[in-house]
Amino acid sequence: MILSNYHLHSVYCDGDDHIRDYVEKAVQLGFHSIGLSSHSPTPVTKGYGLPIENFSAYLDELAVLKQEFEGTIEVYAGLELDYHPDFVSFFEEHFFSAQLDYLIGSVHSIGHRPDGTPWFFERKSKFDEGLYGWYQGDIQAVMRDHYQSVRNMVSLGKIDFIGHMDRIKRHCINVDGFDESASWYQEEVEQTLECIAKHGVMLEINLGGLRHPIQTPYPSPWVLKRCHELDIGLTVNTDGHQLSHLDLGFPQALGFLKDAGYTEIFRLQQGQWMPVTLELSKAI
Ligand SMILES: [Zn+2]
Ligand SMILES: [Zn+2]
Repeated sequence: MILSNYHLHSVYCDGDDHIRDYVEKAVQLGFHSIGLSSHSPTPVTKGYGLPIENFSAYLDELAVLKQEFEGTIEVYAGLELDYHPDFVSFFEEHFFSAQLDYLIGSVHSIGHRPDGTPWFFERKSKFDEGLYGWYQGDIQAVMRDHYQSVRNMVSLGKIDFIGHMDRIKRHCINVDGFDESASWYQEEVEQTLECIAKHGVMLEINLGGLRHPIQTPYPSPWVLKRCHELDIGLTVNTDGHQLSHLDLGFPQALGFLKDAGYTEIFRLQQGQWMPVTLELSKAI
């Protein structure tokens, strides 16, 4: 089992459980470290994010737990930045110099709806509304805009790792013209991975996909192989929204890592991202 997890959602955003309960369960599981990563506030209301007025309470609670559990488990304060170019100045104002240990960068929205607001596509119904509405069914155009947005986010130089890089694919299981083996798609991914490697940003293996019909990690195993060739560092996380997700999928993650050629992953140690060999990162 992997003994760290830096992508977890609590009652501060759309998770079901309290931060303290995650930390206590992580201690029971023998974790080395744990990081909470609420969905960041954004200048638009979206229903699942941490309200900006609760941001300092979130940091305060993590600071208390960090101290209380010192010597038992390393507790980290993170945030899952909900990247959209319209939000960058808001992020700059509130988070880039905040007391956070790390930032995840995730794309949950691209472009704009006809009313000029960002197009959030996390729900399949919203995704289909855009794909078959203003994109007129052109999945290549959607994917190009998506990966361009990931590259813009990476180029900001502010994030530690990218969250669920290709999760958008889960909405495309039955979409005409979408195929991960298509050369146009692989070229977009390749360009994105090269950008990630150039900027020295890490990627996560996000195991959330194992809880959904798509049944793959994010990114897909073929992408992980290419990440290894490009020497991109990985963390392994579950994107948990409840306590039972804390270590869900970790045994499979070891298989994904091994198949891609990885022998080490990154974890936070004394506040620094450090490589750790897989032998040391798993329970004996
Ligand atoms: Zn996310
Ligand atoms: Zn998340």
